[in-house]
Amino acid sequence: MSVTGACLCGAVRYTLKDKPKETGACHCDMCRRWSGGVFMSVKCKAEEVTLDGQKHIGRFKSSDWAERCFCNRCGSVLFYRVTASGPYHDDHHFGFGTLDNPNGIPMTSEIYIDKKPDGFAFKGDHHTMTEAEVIAMFAPKD
Ligand SMILES: [Zn+2]
Ligand SMILES: [Zn+2]
Repeated sequence: MSVTGACLCGAVRYTLKDKPKETGACHCDMCRRWSGGVFMSVKCKAEEVTLDGQKHIGRFKSSDWAERCFCNRCGSVLFYRVTASGPYHDDHHFGFGTLDNPNGIPMTSEIYIDKKPDGFAFKGDHHTMTEAEVIAMFAPKD
């Protein structure tokens, strides 16, 4: 069953082919600044997404491997997109809060846990990874 989402002003809307099975949080410095808090997202492949309002999508190249896309009218965070070649190329990580209905999607992971601000913590049982563990996981294996 497909699900929909949008930015605050509605200029950009999207449809995901299937309801996401999980969400995760990232506490890295870039996600913290970009989202203004904690970036929680749902992942999907490019071919599983339909985007409406393309001309309102602003893109910021935040690193050599990804860009961060936002609504150029209202400024809402929309999605993180992997630009690097490899198995994750063109993966879209939509901001969890942009979903029209974010219920029924469990949080299963929290990454860059060692960068989490110390004034709060998410409850519940989920997988956590430190910055070093994340970098090791994505580093080219050769
Ligand atoms: Zn907008
Ligand atoms: Zn991050």
